[in-house]
Amino acid sequence: MKIGFCSSEVFPFSKTGGLADVCGALPAALEEEGQEVKIFTPLYKGIKPQEMNSRFGRSVIGKNIEVFFIRNDEYFSRDYLYGTPQGDYPDNLERFSFFARRVLEVIKEIGFRPHIMHCHDWQTGLIPVYLRYIFNKDAFYQGIGTIFTIHNLAYQGIFPADKFGILGLPQEFFSIDGLEFYGKINLLKGALLESDILTTVSPTYAREIQTSEFGCGLEGVLSKRKDVLFGVLNGLDYNIWDPQADPLIYSNYGPQNIEKKGKNKVSLQKDCGLKIDKDIFLLGFVGRLAEQKGIDLLAEIIPPLLEKLKAQIVILGTGDQKYHQILEELLSRYKSDKIFGKQIAIYLTFDETLAHRIYAGADSFLMPSRFEPCGLGQMISLKYATLPIVHRTGGLADTVVDVSQDIEKGNGFVFTDVSSRAFLECIERAQGVFSDKATWSLIQKRVINLSFSWRDSARNYIRLYNRCLGSLKNA
Ligand code: ADP
Repeated sequence: MKIGFCSSEVFPFSKTGGLADVCGALPAALEEEGQEVKIFTPLYKGIKPQEMNSRFGRSVIGKNIEVFFIRNDEYFSRDYLYGTPQGDYPDNLERFSFFARRVLEVIKEIGFRPHIMHCHDWQTGLIPVYLRYIFNKDAFYQGIGTIFTIHNLAYQGIFPADKFGILGLPQEFFSIDGLEFYGKINLLKGALLESDILTTVSPTYAREIQTSEFGCGLEGVLSKRKDVLFGVLNGLDYNIWDPQADPLIYSNYGPQNIEKKGKNKVSLQKDCGLKIDKDIFLLGFVGRLAEQKGIDLLAEIIPPLLEKLKAQIVILGTGDQKYHQILEELLSRYKSDKIFGKQIAIYLTFDETLAHRIYAGADSFLMPSRFEPCGLGQMISLKYATLPIVHRTGGLADTVVDVSQDIEKGNGFVFTDVSSRAFLECIERAQGVFSDKATWSLIQKRVINLSFSWRDSARNYIRLYNRCLGSLKNA
């Protein structure tokens, strides 16, 4: 099958978040399963394609996956992908409507007629719309199936109504049954209405986004399309995340010698200026400091965590200034704890090496996210035999099983209420199991062998591609 893969971020060429990781890894996994994939993405500043003409650049990744970089230097040759730290670029609608149109033109120019166009997030949201209402007049485009993947429903591509003319669509499309959303243009909504199949990155998130609590105003549209909405869990790239081969951690270890994980704990304690003691429960957090990630809950539990549970914690993250400030205050408050040695270390920066060392050195990894479409941190920490403590939501609910609920399959600790009390109780429970060394290491041995492979995800997507083509034939 021929797949056109469209994304505004593709690792290793461009990245602001998990979208890039998925769009870098999934095409290769699809290729391994015998699919022909070509990727279409903007040519941002700094990308050096292997070949280039005035319209697009071209590189090859994987065995033979062609990546076409859509070129418009005025639009894409900028310092950032979507905006500066001061805010979004004001012409993002122009930029990404141009991108959508050009992708569809380029597939014809290069003679690539895909069976499926697989589009990702609002930046590609116009592709299914243009395909159905503009390009479909040309026989070349007829019968191409469209699959659209939502990586985070909170980002929708919303623009002022007076820009609608830029899109080149009939004015009647600016209606409640079209791209109109509370008086504005919503590109994601267009994709949700016009794609043949919709997916998101975990089965639980697929259900959650049909509710008003998680639907970000689009729950009605998503509920209407629930028969074609599926959750496909992301995989993890084990070439990068493998404690047996990870060059960034202090000491490599694997299923055969998990005890070497202890060296990572001691080195992490030392580097972070914490008291060196294997018996102290050491918690880690790595992530964006955003409301989504439950940073307020994390900040609230730090005093009892240190004073009552006598635990240690290492936090690594950057994001909202508000959280930087709260965490800095906590750090200065607990900097000089004379009785228990220093118990807390906070790094308000982006640091790949330290992230790896936290995954390897901590006993447990914290993810109190309010919502989490899929989440990578829990999958990474499982591979590093670092038992995750998570809020039961989205992809976290699909990957972490509480040990108290299922002693055979349990791989971490899960709390249900979004409250600092429930979060702290859950940590306390985890600490109880931690103090029972035999049980803890039994669970570690189990989780280090778990695998969230891209192969499984790719196979699920291929099933959906086939389903899409089948339903188009029967239409
Ligand atoms: P999201 O995509 O919502 O940010 P995910 O859990 O899907 O969250 O992925 C986050 C990824 O980014 C993980 O690999 C995590 O280790 C990494 N990460 C987040 N913040 C930092 C940081 N400050 N330093 C290093 N790595 C980070």
